[in-house]
Amino acid sequence: MKVRITEYLDIDLEAERWCCNRCGHDLGEARESYKRGCLVRERDPREIHFPIGPSKEFNFSFDPEWMRIVEFYCPGCAVMVENEYLPPGHPLTWDIQLDIDKLKKKHGVKSRRRARKPSAKTSTTGRKPRPAARARAGSKTAAR
Ligand SMILES: [Zn+2]
Repeated sequence: MKVRITEYLDIDLEAERWCCNRCGHDLGEARESYKRGCLVRERDPREIHFPIGPSKEFNFSFDPEWMRIVEFYCPGCAVMVENEYLPPGHPLTWDIQLDIDKLKKKHGVKSRRRARKPSAKTSTTGRKPRPAARARAGSKTAAR
């Protein structure tokens, strides 16, 4: 089941993946930023906000040393998914962070996460867990 999040972004709730609303292209894990699955273009702000007048300092445009325009495109159909104004070198922002579990519950989609098995430490037998059992339990924790 796909749920529309923005004009250009859907979430496939069963797969927990971001998708392009226009072409369905996979844009990555829904629990991470969709921007990681997009093509990114950094632009000089003077290409969009043309300087007006003869002054290099006061011209109604942005100084490219202080600000860049970062555009995000779908790799499948090249629709512009998002853009933002950031200082040069600024890490990408994570603008949409959804509670996927609640969204799935709201739309009646079962969670793909399996229930945790009881660990060896909480065994009801009262016996001390064997070393092999502890190692297995430890490796499961490390894999998460
Ligand atoms: Zn697309």
